[in-house]
Amino acid sequence: MQDKETPPAERVRRIVEKLLEWYRGEPWWRQPNVDPFHVMLAIALSNRSDYRSVRRVVEKLAEHYPDPWSILRDPEGVKEIIRPLGLVELKTRVVLGLARLVAEAGSVEALLSLPPSEAREKLLSIPGIGEKTADVLLMALWGIDVFPVDTHIARIAARLGLVEPGTRPERVRKILEPLIPKGFRARTHLAMIRLGRNVCRPRNPRCSICPLYSLCPSANSCNPCH
Ligand code: SF4
Repeated sequence: MQDKETPPAERVRRIVEKLLEWYRGEPWWRQPNVDPFHVMLAIALSNRSDYRSVRRVVEKLAEHYPDPWSILRDPEGVKEIIRPLGLVELKTRVVLGLARLVAEAGSVEALLSLPPSEAREKLLSIPGIGEKTADVLLMALWGIDVFPVDTHIARIAARLGLVEPGTRPERVRKILEPLIPKGFRARTHLAMIRLGRNVCRPRNPRCSICPLYSLCPSANSCNPCH
């Protein structure tokens, strides 16, 4: 049974603990031999596209264009590769914007050595990169300890009673980020994304297999769902 009197920080800590017992994976961008520029592209292209399609597109971009400069020389070719993801104009602008950022810095390493606040400003100057994507990029590539919130995470937080239903992702982030222990925010972010895709789905959440079942006031009663 959920204890409604439990202080929010303690409740969040217990939820994070359960989530991380369930999700043992390490962030994919920390795997060896992953090119940071390709990590950048994969994160920026993943908005409203599924992971497998994004991976295929990034692999194809890497095959055709060995570096950001070659991407900048062939915007039409880049667009054709990105097309299967949809939102092709927007996503092409994002890829070209990131390639330009690297080119202006001189190298990916030079870009990644910028102070995070400066990097954030530059990322947000690219049309199509919003607050959430900039935060995921900073978390993955600059190692910043933030907790980006997307629609999956906002939905789960509402079902768990941590925020009011309909609270906007940026607000959810402001409420939850300080309550998630430092050093655990990236994995908690990934765990909640995984939970939102496979278990606490927008429709028909699979409460019976959910690791948060015992902590969730919406368990088995989320119909209609938030
Ligand atoms: S118990 Fe059900 S509603 Fe609650 S977080 Fe898990 S899947 Fe979502």
